[in-house]
Amino acid sequence: MTATGESAHGSNDSGGLVLVLNSGSSSVKFAVLAPASGERVLAGMADKVGTPETELRIRRYPDHVVTEQLPEGSYRAVISRILDHLPEAGLRAAEDGASGPGQARLVGAGHRVVHGGERFTASVLVDDEVIAAIRASSHLAPLHNPANLAGIEAVRAARPDLRQVAVFDTAFHQTMPPRAFRYAVPEEWYTRYGVRRYGFHGTSYRFVSERAAAQLGRPLAGLRLVIAHLGNGCSLAAVRDGVSVDTTMGLTPLEGLVMGTRSGDVDPGVFGFLADRAGLAIDELDQALYNASGLRGLSGVSNDMRTVEAAAAEGDERARLALDVFVHRLAKAIAGMVTGLERLDALVFTAGIGENSALVRGQVLARLGFLGLAEDPTANARHGRDTGGRISPDGPVVAMVVPTDEELMIARDTARLTAAGARLR
Ligand code: ADP
Repeated sequence: MTATGESAHGSNDSGGLVLVLNSGSSSVKFAVLAPASGERVLAGMADKVGTPETELRIRRYPDHVVTEQLPEGSYRAVISRILDHLPEAGLRAAEDGASGPGQARLVGAGHRVVHGGERFTASVLVDDEVIAAIRASSHLAPLHNPANLAGIEAVRAARPDLRQVAVFDTAFHQTMPPRAFRYAVPEEWYTRYGVRRYGFHGTSYRFVSERAAAQLGRPLAGLRLVIAHLGNGCSLAAVRDGVSVDTTMGLTPLEGLVMGTRSGDVDPGVFGFLADRAGLAIDELDQALYNASGLRGLSGVSNDMRTVEAAAAEGDERARLALDVFVHRLAKAIAGMVTGLERLDALVFTAGIGENSALVRGQVLARLGFLGLAEDPTANARHGRDTGGRISPDGPVVAMVVPTDEELMIARDTARLTAAGARLR
């Protein structure tokens, strides 16, 4: 997640603050922020969760950082400790009622949940039935959903009165038509096992599409966008009138573009071929495609785009090839996404590579002139910061940079749904 907020105190008393949690298989990232402004009060991360070496780093804005060892190491221990820090930051986790002077109120906890299957088309207030449904989707994301649930259950155990919201990476793409989400495989694979394209990074796409429309000064309804979320994981979404109509990731976050360590698309025949020729088992193939491929596999240097760019600039041939394959596949996929839109109004770059690599953006735009795209080199070098995000010359098709903030989107959903839940009580 990209955190862009600054110090918070002073502006957080209007609607309360939200605890945003991203509980992964061995880490917990968190932030406490004001949903209206995006300003942070606390943020941090616990590493090696589930082991006696668990370490929790907490930043109290603007610049007070503490590091603690948590030998107990469970999600519950980590989350209790995060909640313990709230009073020190001038916060109280209250059930209801107005905040006291000088004390901001925590109105809820919002959780990133990776897979919502076909059940979840939007964020929801957590209750027993929602927990059961997330658990029922766990086979679709066996590493992620159980960890996300552990975070939800840990908050529940520590603060049973605090309302919680689940925000799904997949939900935004549930608007895709069957022609975009179905694979051409035996029908039973879909009906019995749920093998279809779900797509990911949905929270980022929702945030960035709203921001892009605001920056373009046009309503989302009527806009046709291709958004490139290029972080450690990379994907594209075609967004038409504010809804997703196509995306490059599929059943899992392995499909589509070249990524840091993930292959993206390969010939599915590679499985049988390598099982036969190299004697590799399914889990070894899976592991290689997830962790030893992408920029890392091609370059042999790094999974990190900065390092690959630097090595390519110094003449490293494999790093050059990695960059070349990354850009070729990205440009090709962007052109493919436009078929679901019939017209392109803007190509939007976001996440670590999208927001920071003028090189990648420039090379992609150079390949997509036939779509009406072009680079304004000065604006691109400045990442669109002086031009309202725009990195293309004036013209009907805009290229732009829009920084994502998934934590803020989760905080906003949480504030909205917990307020609605409170009214229903
Ligand atoms: P995550 O998907 O884990 O949230 P990020 O969105 O932070 O990751 O993106 C990480 C990627 O962004 C890495 O490949 C990193 O090298 C790349 N990146 C960050 N800054 C730059 C930069 N200045 N130039 C090129 N790539 C960058």
